[in-house]
Amino acid sequence: MKNPFSIPRPVPDGPWRWLVPVLLVLLFLLVLLWLPWQARQMESNERQEQLIADTLWVEQTLRFELARSEEALATFGADLAAEAPPAPEVLQARLAQMFKNGHELRRIAWLDADGRLLAVRGIDLPGGGLTQSSREAQAMSRTTRAGRYSDAYGATPAHGGLIDYHLPLYRQGRFTGSLVATYSLQTLLDENVPWWFAQDNALSLLDRDDHVVAQRAAGGPGHGVYTHKRALDLPGAQIALSTDSVKGAPKLLPNLLVGSVIVLALGLVMSLAALWRHIARTIAAENALRQQMAFRTAMENSLLTGLRARDLEGRVTYVNPAFCRIVGLPAHELLGRKPPMAYWAPEAMADYEYRFRKVLEGQAVPQFETVFQRPDGVRVPVLVFEAPLVDSHGRHTGWMSSILDITDRKRAEELARQQQEKLETSARLATMGEISSMLAHELNQPLAAISSYTAGALNVLDKVRDDAAAGPAPSSSSSSSLGMLKRALEQANTQARRAGQIIRSVHEFVKKREPRREIVPVQHVIDGIRALVDLQARQSYVTLQVECPPDLPPVLADRVLLEQVLLNLTRNAIESMQDIARERRVLRIAAAQGDAHVSVSVIDNGHGIPPEVAERLFSPFFSTKAEGMGMGLSICRTAIEFHGGTLTHADNPGGGTVFTFTLQQAQATIPT
Ligand code: ADP
Repeated sequence: MKNPFSIPRPVPDGPWRWLVPVLLVLLFLLVLLWLPWQARQMESNERQEQLIADTLWVEQTLRFELARSEEALATFGADLAAEAPPAPEVLQARLAQMFKNGHELRRIAWLDADGRLLAVRGIDLPGGGLTQSSREAQAMSRTTRAGRYSDAYGATPAHGGLIDYHLPLYRQGRFTGSLVATYSLQTLLDENVPWWFAQDNALSLLDRDDHVVAQRAAGGPGHGVYTHKRALDLPGAQIALSTDSVKGAPKLLPNLLVGSVIVLALGLVMSLAALWRHIARTIAAENALRQQMAFRTAMENSLLTGLRARDLEGRVTYVNPAFCRIVGLPAHELLGRKPPMAYWAPEAMADYEYRFRKVLEGQAVPQFETVFQRPDGVRVPVLVFEAPLVDSHGRHTGWMSSILDITDRKRAEELARQQQEKLETSARLATMGEISSMLAHELNQPLAAISSYTAGALNVLDKVRDDAAAGPAPSSSSSSSLGMLKRALEQANTQARRAGQIIRSVHEFVKKREPRREIVPVQHVIDGIRALVDLQARQSYVTLQVECPPDLPPVLADRVLLEQVLLNLTRNAIESMQDIARERRVLRIAAAQGDAHVSVSVIDNGHGIPPEVAERLFSPFFSTKAEGMGMGLSICRTAIEFHGGTLTHADNPGGGTVFTFTLQQAQATIPT
């Protein structure tokens, strides 16, 4: 059943539904966090690279300074190795000049080939002479015929170390001595490293064993985060320049980017959580609603009461299965339809239209009984209750009707009515029976009296006639009068006896005694009542015709009852022809032979029997006549059925009615 209020089923809850967005959010957060880290890393790399470049530059500067000094020494050495050594004043002036050019120079000594001191300027030589490393450097320089440095020495925490440079001197390929220049490593650093670099970095010179031999840290000690070490390319010596930036690692938190990223991430997580909670609540509400719907649908489907919702224009918006069952139409043929509806019965159209007008006016009839028509034409009586349909905003949006199928109730009511009627009929019949019994009893006496009086009167009449015959000749008029009187008395006597017989038959019939059956020819029965029927017919200007075949077999019947039946049928027939043209007033009694029965028809040209009368024709007390008792046909049928026959009626093709009863043939029932 289509339901306009139904909720679509949710997509099944799979892990993917939650996993994918959660993973995406996590990924987003990771990227967000990674970005500042990456930025920090890049910054750090940049600083490191800068440091390396600066260190390289400082190393180059130091190396350049020493190279410049080496060159000056080489020039000086070449002069010393010449044939004529310079005069001592020139020598000293040259030395002074050299000290002036390089502040890092602490001493210059000139040694002969045997290592004896020829001239010296600067600080004193150490007490023990040259250091071991210096001597080795000297020997090495001589061997290699190139200048060579010693290792650093004499460093104290307060003063930096010193380093010697040995330059061998040759004259025409012969070793003539050497020049030994001693440099202060500390001064080398102080003089050649620019202040801005020293401000940002702690610099130190390290010997072979990584001992600090000179250092400069104008901006404080380094942080050990950005460091670089580079060997000074000095032949023979192993001195390394180490730089350590005073800058720490770039901080993460003060970074605006990081701050905003964290705030964003937190916001995102919070809004996600809020969304999550909201969705969970929505789903819970949806589930509750769906359960309610399922419950409601089950309830509606199990209802026996039909439900139908209509909008304000009368268009059907909802029907339940019970309603479909009542009107015998599927839901899809009802939904969306506007009146006139398929289940409206033609005979009640005016009612429906009146009520539909009311609906359009906004005031539906709250309760009414009507009838619906199924597609097969079957009518269904229903009781309808209308109630306004109000939406969640309190707006009137249409009408909800509940429809009760009251077929069973109606049937029960009809049955009860019929039973009541039957009961009343039976009661009246019983009373009738009693009255008839009583009448039969009471009338018997006066009838017997009439009979004996007429018999007595006839006797007296006979005597009078005999006396008259014995006396003087009577006048012809008086004898004919006597004859008429006698016939009248004889007739009166016959009728009185007949009345007595009728009363006895009725009495017996009412008392449900077995009828007194005898073999009678139908002709005799007709003859028995013919005089009476003729009388009635003549009074109503009706012509009587009797057709009775001479070879008609006799029947086994209670003659008196049969006469009563015929009398009743003929009287009805005569009465039915009272309003038609006299020449057409013909009453026919026709007997015929059947297989094992004899049928007798009473045929008239009267007003006929309309269907609504035919339905109740044989019901006791049913009559269309002002003074009719309505018992005639009922008694006739009972009497005929009593004899094992049937009483039926049919339309006379030429107008009027044919009543036919059948009786069993006497031969068929009595073995001979
Ligand atoms: P009553 O004659 O007292 O009315 P009946 O039981 O004999 O009662 O008849 C019942 C009704 O049947 C009559 O009122 C009449 O309407 C109808 N009826 C009976 N016989 C005929 C007939 N031959 N032609 C037309 N109507 C008839």
